[in-house]
Amino acid sequence: MKITRQKHAKKHLGFFRNNFGVREPYQILLDGTFCQAALRGRIQLREQLPRYLMAETQLCTTRCVLKELETLGKDLYGAKLIAQKCQVRNCPHFKNAVSGSECLLSMVEDGNPHHYFLATQDQNLSMKVKKKPGIPLMFIIQNTIVLDKPSPKTIAFVKAVESGQLVSVHEKQSIRQLKEEQGLVKDPEQRRRKKRKKVVNPEKVHLPNDHHFL
Ligand SMILES: [Zn+2]
Repeated sequence: MKITRQKHAKKHLGFFRNNFGVREPYQILLDGTFCQAALRGRIQLREQLPRYLMAETQLCTTRCVLKELETLGKDLYGAKLIAQKCQVRNCPHFKNAVSGSECLLSMVEDGNPHHYFLATQDQNLSMKVKKKPGIPLMFIIQNTIVLDKPSPKTIAFVKAVESGQLVSVHEKQSIRQLKEEQGLVKDPEQRRRKKRKKVVNPEKVHLPNDHHFL
């Protein structure tokens, strides 16, 4: 049984490596539901994930996932402990946290440039992930970790690239990189900083009859 399971995983991994540039160490983004399932199934993720994927893995999560687990209280205390041991990857929500699922979806946007795997038990999130090509999806079923087969959307995408209808993710990334190098794309961080600067206008602050909206 186990050998078949690993064989399938190996095949799927090969597919994601060849077509989407997924590389070791595999970056696995966990949400609260996955941590909770691992806890229930007494699965030692740190041991079992690398064994199952036959490669080095990095368990990661986001601040929004951690925050959500905190607000859910003591029922998810164990899951929170697991999530806290993961590396925290920067998400764009440092001011206002969003739900874990919304956050993780944002992490794999624009062709999943960081090659994240998404590990969740949330059916709703899984469905949304499957609609985006190129994201390896993991879940736990019957106390066993499973790497899902590539979604139909993913397979359709690869076929379209092969037949020359689409630009592949690799190509897209190098185009973006070129644009960035030439200053054609501003990274969101820069944009945000600029905006903040605009708000502080010393001339207006010192006006005697200053109205907020002037
Ligand atoms: Zn977030």
